[in-house]
Amino acid sequence: MFPDSLNNLIESFKCLPGVGEKTAERFAFSVLDLDDIQIELFKNSLDDVRNNIHPCSICNTLTEDDICSICSNVDRDSTVLCVVEDVKSVFLFEKIGLFKGKYHVLNGLISPLDGINPEDIGIDKLLDRLQNGSFTEVIFAFKPSIEGETTSLYIKKILDGLNVRVTKLANGLPIGAEMEYIDSLTLEMALNDRKEIS
Ligand SMILES: [Zn+2]
Repeated sequence: MFPDSLNNLIESFKCLPGVGEKTAERFAFSVLDLDDIQIELFKNSLDDVRNNIHPCSICNTLTEDDICSICSNVDRDSTVLCVVEDVKSVFLFEKIGLFKGKYHVLNGLISPLDGINPEDIGIDKLLDRLQNGSFTEVIFAFKPSIEGETTSLYIKKILDGLNVRVTKLANGLPIGAEMEYIDSLTLEMALNDRKEIS
């Protein structure tokens, strides 16, 4: 019903999470109202994120450089490492601004039912970092879930020989909630009250 180019734009917007047919159409029609400068900026931003953003070579968070601003910041505590399941969690913790250590981003959580096994989530790189770093504490900051528990216990076992304290966020986070939907006060309390994994 729409001209092809408009239809393509609508389909593109529908790739985004939470965007259905109606919203995609509304977005596409709004694009028609943008002026040349806005369109140029939009096009360039898409190109830029595609071409310039990649994982930090140390912690895997997203950066435009080889090493991200957190890893290269000498003022941050390099004795505490917060291990998270995805990049979004790093931004979440940074928004709260409470955590002053370093991060390590895994490639998701172990979930055999979904075909995600320990070797798929990048534990080797984490282990390498812990063996060669100055970390004395590792905090597992995963969403409260079976996958989070499984991953914590699995890595904890591997770290047994290393001289590091292994902790996880305190209970009290809503089970099954995605990290990004947990409010910052709850997350702050869970981080402050973190407990050793036995
Ligand atoms: Zn980094």
